[in-house]
Amino acid sequence: MSSTKTIGIIGGGQLGQMMAISAIYMGHKVITLDPALDCPSSRVSEVIAAPYDDVDALRQLADRCDVLTYEFENVDADGLDAVIKDGQLPQGTELLRISQNRIFEKDFLSNKAQVTVAPYKVVTSSLDLEDIDLSKNYVLKTATGGYDGHGQKVITSAEDLEEANELANSAECVLEEFVNFDLEISVIVSGNGKDVTVFPVQENTHRNNILSKTIVPARISDRLADRAKAIAVKIAEQLNLSGTLCVEMFATADDIIVNEIAPRPHNSGHYSIEACDFSQFDTHILGILGAPLPAINLHEPAVMLNVLGQHVEAAERYVTENPSAHLHMYGKLEAKHNRKMGHVTLFSNEPDNVVEFGKGIDF
Ligand code: AMP
Repeated sequence: MSSTKTIGIIGGGQLGQMMAISAIYMGHKVITLDPALDCPSSRVSEVIAAPYDDVDALRQLADRCDVLTYEFENVDADGLDAVIKDGQLPQGTELLRISQNRIFEKDFLSNKAQVTVAPYKVVTSSLDLEDIDLSKNYVLKTATGGYDGHGQKVITSAEDLEEANELANSAECVLEEFVNFDLEISVIVSGNGKDVTVFPVQENTHRNNILSKTIVPARISDRLADRAKAIAVKIAEQLNLSGTLCVEMFATADDIIVNEIAPRPHNSGHYSIEACDFSQFDTHILGILGAPLPAINLHEPAVMLNVLGQHVEAAERYVTENPSAHLHMYGKLEAKHNRKMGHVTLFSNEPDNVVEFGKGIDF
């Protein structure tokens, strides 16, 4: 039997494109499903242009591919279940359902994986907010559909309750205690259904709720870093993980608290393309194919900067002045404000001296 596979990727954005590039290096063929014929993956793969919930298009993809995967978690799980053959989606649709809904996700993390999350409760209407203890701060988050801080309300006093009540009456929510964290960190872990491999801990800075900078290794103690990695491995093992998963966490002075999981390669893992001996995309492809997974080594401390629509010129200038920095551009045709257009990775022992694009300008 040939070891060359045809891999179907649902979603042709930058994550799908970078997965496809890894797959192609390994000799596989890729077919992408994306609503846009000129999506980033169109540079490197055939594209079936159709909406994600088009069951006929999903079936066509499933019929033509050996293995399927996805680049984002809001894929129609029922639609996929209707078309996939046994074992064709190694990541499974259960993981999709968990990460699509914060209520299922919290339940999985705290009760099944038994890792620490911020104290929370499920909120089905504003009635559930009536008796909250306002000596504490909270974040109210819609159970589904939220991203990059959308569908969230921070509650620090009674004045915030009007908006919070509105949110609670508009959708099912989760109310979390606010975590006074020192750093936001994340850990990439990949599995092949049997074994897992884990990447170094990443330290993340967001601006306007969008990731702007990742520093690796994160500047936390070895003890906390080991703990963060052990948590990611525990979650992966509980899931019998196939492919790459990102665990986003908060680091406090003496603890690690899990915020959420993303069942796919993640923006905070892009540094691994140059800075590690295997990237998060390589291990994703190896993992979904059930291949043995390598241990991951970080060559040197690295920094990744995101290039948003308003940063393209600054990033191009930066790499002409710093030619040892690696510029990745995803091939998106229109540079919209806050749209992720590319990223830059460089090696540095002085991450504070590596300044995000647009810092102080585009807040
Ligand atoms: P999320 O959509 O859950 O990733 O949240 C977006 C951002 O809101 C996170 O990156 C944090 O900066 C912040 N955040 C979310 N949940 C909490 C929390 N429980 N305590 C403090 N900050 C939070």
